[in-house]
Amino acid sequence: MTTTSTDATSTDASVLRTDYQRAVAAYWNTNRNDPVNLELGHVDGLYHHHYGIGEYDPSVLEGPPETRDDRIIREMHRLETMQADVLLDNLGRIAPTDRLMDGGSGRGGTSFMAHQRFGCRVDGVTISEYQVGFANERASERGVDDTVRFHFRNMLDTGFDAGCMRGIWTNETTMYVDLFELYAEFSRLLSFGGRYVCITGCYNDVTGGRSKSVSRIDEHYTCNIHPRSEYFKAMAANGLVPINVLDLTGQTIPYWELRAKSPVATGIEEPFLTAYREGSFHYLLIAADRV
Ligand code: SAH
Repeated sequence: MTTTSTDATSTDASVLRTDYQRAVAAYWNTNRNDPVNLELGHVDGLYHHHYGIGEYDPSVLEGPPETRDDRIIREMHRLETMQADVLLDNLGRIAPTDRLMDGGSGRGGTSFMAHQRFGCRVDGVTISEYQVGFANERASERGVDDTVRFHFRNMLDTGFDAGCMRGIWTNETTMYVDLFELYAEFSRLLSFGGRYVCITGCYNDVTGGRSKSVSRIDEHYTCNIHPRSEYFKAMAANGLVPINVLDLTGQTIPYWELRAKSPVATGIEEPFLTAYREGSFHYLLIAADRV
């Protein structure tokens, strides 16, 4: 089945190589009506599938009940957009002539923000055909479909030319793939001195293996959260040298506290809060240069 005119060669069989990848794609193709993603995106047309950082304004939990839900949603969206801004802050200097790739682009929120900020071409890849269609529609609506494009492609094997990307990021997508395979592909795609930025949840090697709460998160999202150490091993093995590592755990806890009290809570809030508070799980940003 072909998907978009720009990716006429992307077929299910060429993009989704394993049963696991088919299961992940099916998850994102079918879980399309979750209010936690849609209602927040409706605020300003930036649809995120990631979490937020920063303190929330406690007044959103008070005041007139008839506007409370809407104010909470807007505040959560603000924190999710702030998270993407911190990611983009770490990409370094990007020129309008550069090219960026969003690995696991979801509904495209971070890609549009990158284009707004840097004015350059952005290619998003996701294994959900539904998301490709959704994000490309948003690109047309925003009038940026000539420079921001979404593709039905596997980030482990994108088919893009070697060395063509100045920057690549993954915003909460690395728990779906083998990191050694992923960084081999990113290393191939990045030009010398190009920057990779990752925001992810990872488990703590110091407290031991996967805690119960981390396992519940894996189960909920059909993902495979990696230990912190795995990121640095896989980067080192593929010529990616970290320049900045930020532990965002303390900054994401307020978001989860707000989300737990929000009308769009999904039930996964408690495992996240427990895992972060007990120290078995971190919310990490890693920026690395391709050498
Ligand atoms: N980065 C986005 C979406 C995160 S959700 C955001 O911040 O909003 C996880 C995303 O990873 C989904 O879009 C899913 O399709 C994508 N994904 C998972 N495995 C993938 C793979 N092997 N190749 C490309 N995308 C993948």
